Amino acid sequence: MYRENKNVVVPGVTPEQFKELREKALEARNLSYSPYSNFRVGCCLLTEDGTFVNGANVENASYGGAICAERTTIVKLITSLNNPSKRRQWRCLAISGDSMDTCITPCGICRQFIREFAPLSLPIVMFNGDGTKCLMKTLEELLPLSFGPDDLIH
Ligand SMILES: [Zn+2]
Repeated sequence: MYRENKNVVVPGVTPEQFKELREKALEARNLSYSPYSNFRVGCCLLTEDGTFVNGANVENASYGGAICAERTTIVKLITSLNNPSKRRQWRCLAISGDSMDTCITPCGICRQFIREFAPLSLPIVMFNGDGTKCLMKTLEELLPLSFGPDDLIH
């Protein structure tokens, strides 16, 4: 199930971009505000034009107000674009937690949030704490039979 990074091939992502994605997803954990759970998560999104956007989880004293790293990253991207046509031009999304044994996976809310903007074929790469292990799945594999924007078109 887990693979060494050197063996991972992500469709549409060069080996250099993959290396940078891994580094940025791991580094993004340093941006985490997680004083309650001490559970840091970092995320890095690579867009079609080669831009890297990173983010981390942000917690709140009112626990339900916490925002995951994936949604932080996506909101940063969406609200930074002057050209709305770029909202859905994603190439790969990567995340990292602190566990050395397991690769963190996106929660259900984030899978749905990703679904709003990304194609079902989007590769999602999930790293362990030091980036020596990773899993790659498509959005469709993580969110089968999903409901998305197209379903609201009458
Ligand atoms: Zn989440």
